[in-house]
Amino acid sequence: MRYIDPHIHCISRTTDDYIFMARAGVVAVSEPAFWAGFDRTTVESFYDYFRHLTDYEPLRAAKYGIQHYSWMCINAKEAENVTLSREVIKIIPEFLDRPTVLGIGEIGLNKNTRNEITIFEEHVDLAARTNQLILIHTPHLEDKHKGTAIITSILKNDKRIKPERVLIDHCEEQTIRLARDAGFWCGLTIYPVSKVTPQRGADLLEIYGTDKIMVNSASDWGESGPQYLMDTCLEYTRRGHARADIEKVFFDNPARFFAQSPKWKLDANSA
Ligand SMILES: [Zn+2]
Repeated sequence: MRYIDPHIHCISRTTDDYIFMARAGVVAVSEPAFWAGFDRTTVESFYDYFRHLTDYEPLRAAKYGIQHYSWMCINAKEAENVTLSREVIKIIPEFLDRPTVLGIGEIGLNKNTRNEITIFEEHVDLAARTNQLILIHTPHLEDKHKGTAIITSILKNDKRIKPERVLIDHCEEQTIRLARDAGFWCGLTIYPVSKVTPQRGADLLEIYGTDKIMVNSASDWGESGPQYLMDTCLEYTRRGHARADIEKVFFDNPARFFAQSPKWKLDANSA
């Protein structure tokens, strides 16, 4: 079985995780820019973070036969600082030309504040002007439904944005329709402490089908891990689904979404 983990924060993971992913059949990963666990104080801090994502992490992944792609942004949590956010948005275009950058992400909302919405709209504008794919972070728990509704309505109201070029991530039972009904791609994040479990992930795949949907681990510095992708695949397989559907969800769908960027190129031996 070949896997793509379309959302993982390799910067926070050990090399053991790369070894595990290689053994388990992961051939490519995509890493959105996110919160470091603390608020950064200067634009230079983001500049070095983006260099890490675009220079170093692809080399580290390649040692284990894994292709590493990334996305650029200032995340919703730090977007509360509008001045710093605008400085960061100014340096993003230089990184959009890097060979492994797929687009703008993970942008979205955290607590659904006015400042977060302002910076979200400025990122969407940058993506539209530079014709980038978009990867969306939706808020946690009690803020999720309202935040997902705000995000999808902003995207729908911007006529420059094509829904098939947007991935709405961290979808759950109460938000998946907001993404799917508008034609966006949707991501299920298997992160049992605060998001979806492997069993609920398999339930959602059964209820909503295998079109325009993908599964990720969103592994980061929290209680998470790349194995949740395989656990979900095993649960889905155990329920008797066809091989073609399994490969579609865990490999073909993320590959199809990413292939809308000219940067996405799977090596011949993993394609
Ligand atoms: Zn993330």
